[in-house]
Amino acid sequence: MNVLVLSHTDVTRLLTMEACIEVMADALRATNQGGAVLPLRSVVWMPDRTGMIGLMPGFLDPPRSLGLKVVSIFPGNHAAGYDSHQGVVMLFDTRYGYPLAIMDASSITAIRTAACSGVATRALARDDAGDLAILGSGVQARTHLAAMRAVRKLRRVRVWSRTPANAQRFAAESPVPVDVMPSARAAVDGADLICTTTAAREPILEGAWIAPGAHVNAVGACFAATRELDTAAVARARLVVDRKESTLNESGDFLFARRDGAIGDDHILGELGDLLLGRFAGRRAADEITLFKSLGIAIEDLASAHYIYSQAIAQGLGASVPLGPDPKSIADP
Ligand code: NDP
Repeated sequence: MNVLVLSHTDVTRLLTMEACIEVMADALRATNQGGAVLPLRSVVWMPDRTGMIGLMPGFLDPPRSLGLKVVSIFPGNHAAGYDSHQGVVMLFDTRYGYPLAIMDASSITAIRTAACSGVATRALARDDAGDLAILGSGVQARTHLAAMRAVRKLRRVRVWSRTPANAQRFAAESPVPVDVMPSARAAVDGADLICTTTAAREPILEGAWIAPGAHVNAVGACFAATRELDTAAVARARLVVDRKESTLNESGDFLFARRDGAIGDDHILGELGDLLLGRFAGRRAADEITLFKSLGIAIEDLASAHYIYSQAIAQGLGASVPLGPDPKSIADP
């Protein structure tokens, strides 16, 4: 029995941002039509809290897919040159359960997260939004620039990062002109698209700074104890999430604002999949602030892996490696 191993290079070649945006939109719709089995992720921190490993299993149909992501998060890695998110996504056959493929999780995470923000932006931002502020300058900052370019015509891009040299490097490596700003406040001043992509634990975006009509993708804070947005930023916005259960359990951005008494659970308008299915209204007026709170859910990895695997088979990419014992008789997958 062979398993197909797909590297970072294979994944980035096969999973373009444009394709991934459509794959994510389809997967989010399928999820909210009842096609997913999606438990909360399980996380194990090392006792010194320098790194963790997370397990994200799931099932999705369509496209019928079964698998999991195992990903470590070492937030201090950026300075050392390693990706902060490393691991594998495993895809399994849904008839007999054998492993079909093992692929690099860093690249899938980088692309699928930004693609979901792209889906949210397409659904929630004003059609004429094009003044983009990115807070942070790491992996997610780069893929978010690509995703925002895919869904809106950008007039201007500003970046702010805690370490100015990293913001400078981001601008130098960007395919479009980027203004490096001295503060987060200066970066978001008047912006109508804002992506927060930092590993900050305390707010780096204040509600008072956000211009009327802006759309915000809040991506960086993935745990109950961390936040990038202050309470006002969450309270002022029409809030759409990837998954309600995850938000209520894992989102510091949401939970701190609720603890402050500024919002209740009903502040969550709904899930992105339901928005795409037309089950509630997203933006109702040009001057409303909309907010997509992203935590990242397993079906995003699963749908990406299914797409990558099909593309790899069609294009003959990847390394086929013997793994389990050969079956006595198995029909073609
Ligand atoms: P990187 O390590 O590549 O980049 C981290 C960024 O965060 C850098 O720009 C760094 O700034 C900034 N940063 C770190 N600490 C602070 C701080 N205390 N205050 C302000 N800025 C800070 O990480 P990624 O781009 O891969 O991930 C960014 C965040 O997104 C992480 O928190 C990650 O967990 C989260 N994430 C969320 C996903 C989702 O599905 N929602 C999926 C993947 C990641 P500088 O370099 O200037 O110091």
